[in-house]
Amino acid sequence: MTDAPASQPLMLFNSLTRQLEEFQPVHPGEARVYSCGPTVYNYPHIGNMRAYVFADTLGRTLSFKGYKLTHVINITDVGHLTDDADAGEDKMEKMAAEKAQSIWDIARHYTEAYWADVKALNIRQPAHWSIATDYVPQMIEFAKAIADKHCYELEGGLYFDTSTVADYGALARAKTDEGEGRIEEVEGKRHAADFAIWRKTPAGETRQMEWDSPWGKGAPGWHLECSVMSEALLGFPFDIHTGGIDHREIHHPNEIAQNQAHSCSDASGARIWMHNNFLIERSGKMSKSAGEFLRLQLLIDKGYHPLAYRLMCLQAHYRSELEFSWEGLGAALTRLKRMVMGVEQLKARHLETTSSAWSPTYAAGEWTLRKFLDAMPVKSIESNNLTQFDREISNDLGAPSALLEVELVLGPGAKKQSASDRLNTLAAIDDVLGLAICSTSRADLRIRPNAATITEAEIEAALTRRKEARAAKDFATSDKLRDELTAAGVEVMDGDPLGWDWRLDAN
Ligand code: AMP
Ligand code: ZN
Repeated sequence: MTDAPASQPLMLFNSLTRQLEEFQPVHPGEARVYSCGPTVYNYPHIGNMRAYVFADTLGRTLSFKGYKLTHVINITDVGHLTDDADAGEDKMEKMAAEKAQSIWDIARHYTEAYWADVKALNIRQPAHWSIATDYVPQMIEFAKAIADKHCYELEGGLYFDTSTVADYGALARAKTDEGEGRIEEVEGKRHAADFAIWRKTPAGETRQMEWDSPWGKGAPGWHLECSVMSEALLGFPFDIHTGGIDHREIHHPNEIAQNQAHSCSDASGARIWMHNNFLIERSGKMSKSAGEFLRLQLLIDKGYHPLAYRLMCLQAHYRSELEFSWEGLGAALTRLKRMVMGVEQLKARHLETTSSAWSPTYAAGEWTLRKFLDAMPVKSIESNNLTQFDREISNDLGAPSALLEVELVLGPGAKKQSASDRLNTLAAIDDVLGLAICSTSRADLRIRPNAATITEAEIEAALTRRKEARAAKDFATSDKLRDELTAAGVEVMDGDPLGWDWRLDAN
């Protein structure tokens, strides 16, 4: 039994209507969510990971509100061309040729790299990772069902005629004949926006990935997989479809057109379509074709805990652009440290007053607002921050303002509450934010940059010697030690209010 959804209505911005709408599940008490996943031809950049932090925060919010969540994220290992429309080469085939490896090895390697980032960012495992190549027979059946009424064949394969469905491109606010020039022409296409359902292997060529079909040997078009897998795993219609804002323009309008054709109706497939805005970086380091690009591992190598990046994402609303900077990331790390140290202090206070270590009323992943309210004594609820947190997060995932509740619970205003009540509130909040503030320690957050030449033990020893020298008013020695540390990339932070005595330079 799931507990009843909490009273605060969950309002979400639907890209289809460009309005906030109250979440009303297709199946009472359930939430079924499909997120477009990565194309596994290369490492994800941190912008890609913003899309999954967003989808995870949505999923966590739905769980917190008491809905039984079924989340699907797909893995695209076939069909995605270098252009989201229908031009260019197959991303997977291209990388496999460059690396002289099989596509299957490329797909496995980059899927695992993506999963490592998912784990590092504390993104919960979805109910299903649907792998596109596992669904090719279903894609062929889907295509067969719509071929007569909605498709036409060209030399290159089977194409979808976008004029055969009502209001094509409504999601993008585009028209069928728009996009001329944007899309590299395919000879014989009836409309610029028409797209491939099946791409035939050119005569005389063999592709690493190809399947037999009524339209010849070939591979499915990219858009087909999401229509097929979402319906197979979540039913039709389901609740929420997510993706980055670029998908609002081509990929999702095409999915919707296919869904309309297949269901012989105007139904788009999902009740609510949600899109996260982009993470941007001005010097071009997010381009996967530029040598060192912004991967999560690069952040870790430079000494930034991955959850600082998660916090950086949450500090901006998912519908706003977010500009990446190392300073911004550093500020997020400092904020996370403050939170973690605040939790450590509360745990210490709890131990002092009760002589027992604090343990949360519910384990991580099991909090809901209803359970929390039931567990709290009435007077605590009134002064509790969780109801305010609920208001913020229920307002189209208002994470930036919801985050402030963490600091309010840690701050002097919450002093009257017991340490245990405050910690439980933080644990419940963290089940939505996923920052692991109740299980991470200050030491965990201090990551050694790869480029560092000095060890923590050496730093601590030099600092102890420096402290002794200062106590003895031997400032020459103290300055010398400080200079030596600086030369080794250690910034000595005298008087840091966090008591974070030193930091290793990342570069
Ligand atoms: P891809 O692997 O290219 O299919 O992209 C995976 C996901 O990342 C999709 O949902 C994209 O819309 C999203 N995405 C791509 N670039 C960015 C970015 N710079 N910021 C946020 N999301 C992005
Ligand atoms: Zn998709």
